[in-house]
Amino acid sequence: MTDFLQFGLGERIEKALTEANYTVPTPIQRQAIPILMKGHDLLGIAQTGTGKTAAFALPSLDYLSQTYKPLKSRTARMLVLAPTRELASQIAESFRTYGKFLRLTITTAFGGVPIGRQVRALQRGVDILVATPGRLIDLVDQNALDLSQVEVFVLDEADQMLDLGFIHALRRIVRILPKKRQSLFFSATMPPAIAELAAQFLTEPQKVEVKPQATTAERVAQHVIHVNASEKQALLTLLLQDLGADMDRGLVFTRTKHGADRVVRHLKGAGIAAEAIHGNKSQPQRERALGLFRSGEIKILVATDIAARGIDVPGVSHVFNFELPNVPEQYVHRIGRTARAGREGIAIALVSDGDERTYLRDIERLIRQKLEPMPLPENFLARAAAIAKPVARTGENSGDQRGFSHGERRDGRRDGGHRGGPGGHRGERSGGGERREGDRDGQRRHFGAPKPKYSAKPAHGGGNSGGRGNPGGGQRRQGR
Ligand code: AMP
Repeated sequence: MTDFLQFGLGERIEKALTEANYTVPTPIQRQAIPILMKGHDLLGIAQTGTGKTAAFALPSLDYLSQTYKPLKSRTARMLVLAPTRELASQIAESFRTYGKFLRLTITTAFGGVPIGRQVRALQRGVDILVATPGRLIDLVDQNALDLSQVEVFVLDEADQMLDLGFIHALRRIVRILPKKRQSLFFSATMPPAIAELAAQFLTEPQKVEVKPQATTAERVAQHVIHVNASEKQALLTLLLQDLGADMDRGLVFTRTKHGADRVVRHLKGAGIAAEAIHGNKSQPQRERALGLFRSGEIKILVATDIAARGIDVPGVSHVFNFELPNVPEQYVHRIGRTARAGREGIAIALVSDGDERTYLRDIERLIRQKLEPMPLPENFLARAAAIAKPVARTGENSGDQRGFSHGERRDGRRDGGHRGGPGGHRGERSGGGERREGDRDGQRRHFGAPKPKYSAKPAHGGGNSGGRGNPGGGQRRQGR
């Protein structure tokens, strides 16, 4: 049983939500789902990290499954447009998760991969198509897709669409969509150009606005520590040691699977119990690790972004960004793992020179705030040197001891990010030693600083009240 029952979404969706560990709807879900269940158009001002995907996916899945019909060739009943392939894939994955027990077909179409498979996937028609605008137009132009049967249309992250120059594609798409449809439009911001676009897509929309800052800026204290890549591991170990009982549960994020394993090995070497979850772990291994984390037997879970997506463990007091993500929204996802249900949380980013500075800048731009610099722990260099030694005996290669080899980082890079992906300048840095020295000087500057406070403020009650009026299970989609 979950609080989603109030929406009358049907048993099969409810069951999928229970499996995904969704128990409490997020504010945008509470506000948007009843509106959408009645068939209204919606203008949503919300960012990634607020739960907006489920807000639009759940009522749509309900509608499509309730009005099941044979599909016409090369058509889709629902079209979701997203600005990037990463987001399109994520949205499709969410639909698959929530629609696990429904017999609806879901496919994606985005650039950067051969179009042939997408053409074939559309041949028999699909219930849900998640696409980027450029590839969608290509498919329409090749007569591989006919939009005349679209009943539900979602435009996600409209402001990014504009930034990426999709305005002409969008204007064209709006012209070929059927007039009679339900339309949903999401944007994090609403400058005049977006409002104008929204007016073209929507008919008498209801407006819903949620502030992502409520999860990021206001509820999570966000810190950054600048450190050499080679000293990150020691820093993490020392932070955890210093925190001790002040930390209930900590999630550590790495960008690569190998990185996650390596962090776990180092922590174990220092006597800190930790487990990793990532794509190379089998389902039983993941479940075991999550079980240990949930029960409190281990206080540290090290995860990659993909693996962490399904994690919903209450009581995560700290999120450590061992490496920053190159997609800034991912940062918001990560820190959203703490401070759930109205609690306070702490996020600490360990940032080294080079690419990570760029990622940090992109993140700060997205969340519209600066992470608060935090000094290194006292006597950092001496204590770090003391922990580094036993690690060297564990047979790690020299690349590990230096932190992250360049090859490893390249492997771990997520492909195709349009943002923050400054390719190219990551060659071997011959001046690595020099750079480290320079950084050390920088670190020394912190030494006189007061002892940092890492612990979370006392948590206050999980306030997920304030629900909107009860939509009542019965009334459905008169607007359609
Ligand atoms: P979104 O803003 O849609 O990208 O969602 C942000 C993250 O929150 C995703 O990882 C979702 O799986 C997760 N999420 C969304 N709604 C809920 C919920 N009601 N309970 C728990 N997790 C959720």
